Amino acid sequence: MESETRPHSNTSVQACKKCQQNFILETDDFSFYKKMDVPAPKICPDCRFKLRAIWRNERTLYNRTCGLCNRSIISMYNPNSPYVVYCNDCWVSDKWDPFSYAVNYDFSKSFFEQFKELLLKVPKSATYSSAATGPNINSEYANFAGGNKDGYLIFNSGPNNENCAYSRGLMESRDVYDVYYANTIENTYESINIHKSNGIAWGQNVSDCIDSRFILNCSGCQNCFGCVNLRHKSYYFFNEPLTRDEWLKRVSEISGSFIKTEEIKTKFREFSIQFPHRSNNNLKVTNCDGDYIFDSKNCHNCFEVSSSEDIRHSFSIKRSKDCADMIGHCRTSELLYNGVGVGAGSRRVICSWWVESSQDVEYSFATRQSNNCIGCDAVKNGSLVILNKKYSKEEYKKIKEHTTKELKDKDIYGDFLPSELCPFGYNESIAQDNIPLTKEEALAQGFRWEDNIQKTEGKETMKPEKILDHIKDISDDFINEVLICTECSRNYRLIKRELEFYRKMVIPIPRKCWNCRFLDRINRRGPYQFWKRNCDKCQKEITTNYVPDRLEIVYCESCYQKEVY
Ligand SMILES: [Zn+2]
Ligand SMILES: [Zn+2]
Ligand SMILES: [Zn+2]
Ligand SMILES: [Zn+2]
Repeated sequence: MESETRPHSNTSVQACKKCQQNFILETDDFSFYKKMDVPAPKICPDCRFKLRAIWRNERTLYNRTCGLCNRSIISMYNPNSPYVVYCNDCWVSDKWDPFSYAVNYDFSKSFFEQFKELLLKVPKSATYSSAATGPNINSEYANFAGGNKDGYLIFNSGPNNENCAYSRGLMESRDVYDVYYANTIENTYESINIHKSNGIAWGQNVSDCIDSRFILNCSGCQNCFGCVNLRHKSYYFFNEPLTRDEWLKRVSEISGSFIKTEEIKTKFREFSIQFPHRSNNNLKVTNCDGDYIFDSKNCHNCFEVSSSEDIRHSFSIKRSKDCADMIGHCRTSELLYNGVGVGAGSRRVICSWWVESSQDVEYSFATRQSNNCIGCDAVKNGSLVILNKKYSKEEYKKIKEHTTKELKDKDIYGDFLPSELCPFGYNESIAQDNIPLTKEEALAQGFRWEDNIQKTEGKETMKPEKILDHIKDISDDFINEVLICTECSRNYRLIKRELEFYRKMVIPIPRKCWNCRFLDRINRRGPYQFWKRNCDKCQKEITTNYVPDRLEIVYCESCYQKEVY
């Protein structure tokens, strides 16, 4: 397929060199690429997302030992992978010197061949922890997270979280279990997209609500149960007002019982499907398209983006300006392109992984407080560094010209790090959460697949049907039981704080493992993909992540606003 330029629209259509589908480049995009001094991509946004997302293994964690202090740790690197892995404390310490692994640049070899050699030698941090959002305290099972206290299996979260578990995308929150994407919440369980709320369970798209369960698209509500599209209501039960006493009676009959909660889940699903849904969950945005965008301007094809401006094709980023193709972090950065976990006051960083507080860096890995680096790994306070070796200004310029020319000649300059160098399998990474593939599809598209994902099976001490129905009947020694997931048969167990949380919130013991619960939430969140469909009321064309054949009634913004109560 040939690329063509449409003369009257200022956009051009390009065939993706990976999947061959046509995609559109907008005028705005071109000015950004020019500013970043990279050619316009020849890979479509979805393929670009996959190529980056495989580098972000947030929650496939393994037990292993630190290569320096021998402590037993958890790590995102599979023990079968070829890397030397240090615990994060050792990795950030002065007990080793990343410059001692320097590779002499060889003009006769390809850049990526040499970078691969370096990546295999330099020790890796077991988990990604952003210094910029503060340390993780007593939160061993945290990854791509910073500023968490007493966290457990918490990802892409921070700062200022305390006692949060099994969650992704939390900020400024406390006593939260099983939540996806939230800020400033407390005492919240099994919810998605929750803001400034307290005491929510089984909520979705909720803001400023208190003590409510099974609520969807509600704000300013208190003591509501099984409600959809309500504003500023209290003591509503399935969208009907009740007296306080009657409401309390009905809710207390359900809360804490696994069987009754499951019945309500089904009832609520059937009930909520009759109500119109917003085409997206964006709030306080100007000229944005995508979903879960907050307080932002000119963001296109974005997902889970807040307080940002002039952003394209980005996922899970905050407080940044003029960036494209980013996954995670970004905070207080600008002019970032094609990166994973780059941020903390960075500028002009391209095609890199976990670069913080740095400028003019390209094709680098885990590099911080540095400037003018190419192909570096774990470098700190570096300047004019290539493959972990320091150069004079003149030598640096000469090698940079050489690498840039090589990559441009191969038509890959500006493409993300080659997948062959990626430490993770497709199914270990967030690529699988957002664009799921079968093993065969992943391999056919050039990705690796990890067959040995660590999970315990067959060690259960209690079958699901033996777990007592009501939380009030669960004894303290329940935390010693090894449970088996009803979905995937993985073994799991409760932590002490978790049992205390379920008791406080009057919530039954979950029968699925934390990973299956996580996947259910991803499913309820909807995909990072958009379709055109028509408003079910006025027929206006809308862009939404509800696939056109889904059962939900989807309204454009103005029709939706007329409908809420
Ligand atoms: Zn493609
Ligand atoms: Zn260590
Ligand atoms: Zn499971
Ligand atoms: Zn409409």
